[in-house]
Amino acid sequence: MVDAAVAAAFAELGLGQPIVQAVAAKGYTTPSPIQHQCIPAVLEGRDVMAAAQTGTGKTAGFTLPMLERLRHGPHARGGGVRALVLTPTRELAAQVGENVAAYGRYLDLRSDVVFGGVKINPQINRLRAGTDVLVATPGRLIDLQQQGAVRLDQVEILVLDEADRMLDMGFIRDIRRLLALMPPRRQNLLFSATFSGPIKALAHGLLHNPVQLQVTPENRTATTVEHLLHPCDMARKPELLTHLIASQGWQQVLVFARTKHGANRMADKLTEAGMAAAAIHGNKSQGARTRALAGFKSGELRVLVATDLAARGIDIHQLPHVINLDLPNQAEDYVHRIGRTGRAGHPGHAISLVAAEEHELLRAIERLIGSRLPREEVPGFEPTVLSAPPLDLSGGRRQGGRPSRGPAQPRRSGNGNNRHTRDR
Ligand code: AMP
Repeated sequence: MVDAAVAAAFAELGLGQPIVQAVAAKGYTTPSPIQHQCIPAVLEGRDVMAAAQTGTGKTAGFTLPMLERLRHGPHARGGGVRALVLTPTRELAAQVGENVAAYGRYLDLRSDVVFGGVKINPQINRLRAGTDVLVATPGRLIDLQQQGAVRLDQVEILVLDEADRMLDMGFIRDIRRLLALMPPRRQNLLFSATFSGPIKALAHGLLHNPVQLQVTPENRTATTVEHLLHPCDMARKPELLTHLIASQGWQQVLVFARTKHGANRMADKLTEAGMAAAAIHGNKSQGARTRALAGFKSGELRVLVATDLAARGIDIHQLPHVINLDLPNQAEDYVHRIGRTGRAGHPGHAISLVAAEEHELLRAIERLIGSRLPREEVPGFEPTVLSAPPLDLSGGRRQGGRPSRGPAQPRRSGNGNNRHTRDR
């Protein structure tokens, strides 16, 4: 039975009974802020431009009203698609597809998900009869369209999810090609964590008199995340991370590495230390990535080491710890990375291991998020290498006054006057 208060909260936004029932089955009790704003606007048929990160409930924000609109119209005809959701990555496409299936479980609507890295023929066969909702990555959708498996001339609703990342990944030409195949009269919804110049330009050409929504201030990180920075030497990062996971007893840790090679090395080192770990990045097969993600979600894997592109859109509810083994090259990726922790009101921890060489990257991140990350040295892992000018890692605390359980390390020599001095 559907809880009456839950039903009322979602029904008041204009959603019908089968959708309210599906939402209640997911265990949601109240609409999230983005859902409050987005659902009525989409139901009215308005275009929407929303600044919303993963973790805000944005997927339901567009999916629920989209399904509500679709359930009142005729089904798609021969190879046609009525609502198209484009996502930058395979993982995000799969997740959105799961959401569409879950929210639409009491509806007579067809939905499908297509992405690259897997065989195309089964996708061609499935799409032949047409589908009401198609979730797709741009490249594979173009292949399918070129092979005549799918037609976009019936699209009523278009969603661009994580549009900033689609542009970062170079999908703009694919998106424009796909747009040209759709009827000009349609509803457009654009979701993006950030609104840089290129996104604004895309939005300008795409959206008609959009409702503009923002759930966290632009380029600000969610408030329920506690940030912390551990200064250390570059060469000792793998050792420090292994020490932290073991000594702090973290059980589900998402680690970001800058390179595929670095991600592999870190995962190997953790495995050697007896922790169940895996790496995901673009060189891994789709099967390996899906398996690693499933293992991480189920708790079988304790640590997942990912590059930015592979991790984009990973939705793991209430992930407690996100670690930056390396700082990202783009400051905005810091915001994307930590968007995976501290969701739905549960506090998360975003911990960065920062070496002197990353001074400039750190400054860019702190400028973007508008605050200084608190520093905390880990006893036994104090940095010995400093940049010129020295990395401002001062003002740090010692880690909780706890004794180091790490191996005894040679301390840097120096009396506070030499060039290795930390404090300025
Ligand atoms: P998203 O931002 O769409 O990736 O959603 C983040 C997480 O919040 C997902 O695990 C959703 O299942 C969950 N979620 C979405 N809407 C609600 C809601 N109204 N109440 C509680 N959880 C929600």
